[in-house]
Amino acid sequence: MKTDIVVVGSGIAASAAMIRLQQLGLSATQIAPVEKSSDRIGETLSYTANQLLKQLQLWEAFLARGYLAQDLVFSAWDQPTLTRQSRFSRSQGSTWSIDRDDFEDFLRMHSANDRHHRLFKKIKTCSQTTDGLLLDIDDHLPLQAGFVIDCSGRSAIIGRRLSRRHRIDNMICYYSFIKQSDTEIEPTVGIMIEAVENGWWYSAILPDRRMIISFYTYPDLVHQHLNRDAQSWRSLIDQAPLTQKRIESAGYCAVEAPLASDAGMLMQSESSGRNWISAGDAFATLDPLSSHGMTQALWSGCRAAEACMNSIHGDHSEVDKFEQTVTQAMQAYQTELITKYQSVKRFARYPFWERRGSLDFRKKSA
Ligand SMILES: Cc1cc2nc3c(=O)[nH]c(=O)nc-3n(C[C@H](O)[C@H](O)[C@H](O)COP(=O)(O)OP(=O)(O)OC[C@H]3O[C@@H](n4cnc5c(N)ncnc54)[C@H](O)[C@@H]3O)c2cc1C
Repeated sequence: MKTDIVVVGSGIAASAAMIRLQQLGLSATQIAPVEKSSDRIGETLSYTANQLLKQLQLWEAFLARGYLAQDLVFSAWDQPTLTRQSRFSRSQGSTWSIDRDDFEDFLRMHSANDRHHRLFKKIKTCSQTTDGLLLDIDDHLPLQAGFVIDCSGRSAIIGRRLSRRHRIDNMICYYSFIKQSDTEIEPTVGIMIEAVENGWWYSAILPDRRMIISFYTYPDLVHQHLNRDAQSWRSLIDQAPLTQKRIESAGYCAVEAPLASDAGMLMQSESSGRNWISAGDAFATLDPLSSHGMTQALWSGCRAAEACMNSIHGDHSEVDKFEQTVTQAMQAYQTELITKYQSVKRFARYPFWERRGSLDFRKKSA
């Protein structure tokens, strides 16, 4: 079997790539398993996504979803008391608290079209051939693709075979969605970040009024079975006085044992090759501190689709330009991230902050 363009995945990067391909008059085969709905973490959509949603002609429909504009950020980062941070310019609009499942479904719905073909399968592996990539698909005949956009997230099913992939760190996130028990209280919509000895806490109010609380740390710095131990989780919350106070004062109820998610950074040495390009987490997973993962997925999905169009017409320069742009952006990002962690001087001697302040992005650990 043969096809010109394949997009792997059906997350945010893949949907952006499919919509952009459609805008460019191209059709593609999208390969990804059926998505199950889940309480997936990652609900802060940066204001930098607004322009991209407009470019994808989704802005009005996005506004109609009824997500919460969240422009307040309270932070106890380099000092123990909360300060209100404000953005330099509001001309680019709001940052949003979204319903993550709903947002992904919304993008998926807009990426489906009569010209695109969808295969609800998983790719097992791939190999380079003279005229493209040969995709080995679970329970399906192999598929020969002229060009592949890899949006398979952390699994990076194409990039990990055709490039080198490095794990930078093994930060982990423990998180709970909690309900309000006292609905008379109007919770303050906004993000709160609190640095503590062994990591940092993040909390926000969701559009359905639940609160997400999450703790970013290293697995060896907390109780080994924290995700099965509500008592240890509550004790940890007690050690984060500002987060604890927010939960209590806004009338939220007792917290169950948390869920856990890998929050470590993974990067590929190349974001593209002769017949393929990576977008979103498949190329680089960012530290969630930046809240830019979804914007990066939207942006790179769009740019990957444009580069793909040029490449199938014989012009590889857009793919090279994409590679250069993301490489430069990642270098700037790394410096900024380390500086941000190093600014927490009050905990500088604790292992979490020592490790974050000396992240080595050149490390090659599989
Ligand atoms: C703890 C945590 C908190 C976060 N919080 C935020 C936040 O608040 N704001 C923010 O902007 N970002 C946040 N992020 C980052 C954000 O969630 C990701 O950057 C974003 O989801 C990346 O989207 P993606 O489309 O690249 O990948 P994914 O959403 O991972 O999609 C990957 C797709 O590929 C498919 N796939 C995988 N393997 C295969 C295969 N072999 N064959 C076919 N298909 C395959 C999957 O089924 C899926 O459809 C957070 C991340 C973490 C870990």
